[in-house]
Amino acid sequence: MSRSLVVLLWILWVPAVAQTAAAPEDYPMTPEAVAEGVYALITPARDFPNAENLGWNANMAFVVTDDGVLVVDTGSSETMGIAIRNAIATVTEQPVRWVVNTHSHGDHWLGNHAFADLQPGIFAGPAAAALMEAQAEGWIRNFNEMTEGRTGASRTLFPNMPVTGITDLDLGGTRVVLLPSGDSHSPGDIAVWLPESRTLIAGDVVYTDRAPSVWNGDVRQWISFLDELIRLEPRVVIPGHGRIEGAETLPRLRHYLATLWAAVEEGVLEGLPDFLTVDLVRERMADIVVDYPGFEDKVNRSVTHVYPDVEQTAF
Ligand SMILES: [Zn+2]
Repeated sequence: MSRSLVVLLWILWVPAVAQTAAAPEDYPMTPEAVAEGVYALITPARDFPNAENLGWNANMAFVVTDDGVLVVDTGSSETMGIAIRNAIATVTEQPVRWVVNTHSHGDHWLGNHAFADLQPGIFAGPAAAALMEAQAEGWIRNFNEMTEGRTGASRTLFPNMPVTGITDLDLGGTRVVLLPSGDSHSPGDIAVWLPESRTLIAGDVVYTDRAPSVWNGDVRQWISFLDELIRLEPRVVIPGHGRIEGAETLPRLRHYLATLWAAVEEGVLEGLPDFLTVDLVRERMADIVVDYPGFEDKVNRSVTHVYPDVEQTAF
C-alpha cells in the first residue's frame, strides 16, 4: 500500500471513530442539596455510557465540612472530574481534601486526577484499588469506544487510603462512616454513611430506577449487606445509579435480588440450563422489573453469573 493511500485511509477513518472529547461545561451538573452540607450530582442518564450521555451514567456526591470538601466518586473521565470540581465551586470555596472511590468500575473514579493538585486523601477498599490499577487503561479505552471518543484521555490517580474495615472518620467536624460491603456488588466496594444527617451515599450497592449490574459481585452477600443498610434507617439514599430516594428503596432492591436468586435456584433445582433459566427469571421478576429499566439488557449476564453461585450452595 502506498504511503499516501495509508494517510488517506487514516484521515477517512479518524472522524468516523473519534468525535471530539467533551468539555467540562458539556456536563449539566447542578448540585442538589439533600441535607445540610450534603449535595448530590445526579445524572439524567439511565443507560450505559454512550455518545449521547457523554459517558456520564453514574451519580456522584460531595460533603462540605468545616475544613474542606469530601467527594464521593469522580465520574468516567478526567474531564468529568473537572466538571465536578466546577460544580462544587458553585457551592463553596473550600478545597477538596478527601475523595472516596466507592468501587473499581471506571464510571466512578476516572475523574480522580482532576483533584491531583490538591493532593487529597483517596479512600477505597484494597481489592477495589488493585482492580483500578490493573484495569484503568481498559476502562479508558472502553468508554471511548462506547462514547465515540467523548470521554477523551484521562490521567489516572489511584487511592492512597486503604479502607480495610468499618472506618469511622471525623472529616472537618463531620462524621463519615465508610462501610465495606463484603464485595456485594464488586470486589472491595464501600458505601458512605453520614450519621448526623442520616444520609447514605451508597455507590453501586444501591440502584433505584435502573436495573442493577450483579455480575461482578456476590448476590447473597449483597442481600445481607442491604439488611445492614436497612437497619441504619437512612433519611436519604443517593444511589450509584438512579434517582434519589428514601429508606424504602432498600427493601425494594432487596426484593429484586432475593427474587432473582430464588428464580435461579428454582431453575437449578429443576435441572434447567442457565439459558432456559433466563425465561423463568423473566417470569418471576415481571412485576418487579417495571421499576428497574434496563433489565432486559442485563438479564442474560445476571443469570449467567448467579447460576453457578446458586449451584454451589444448592448442592
Ligand atoms: Zn456504576
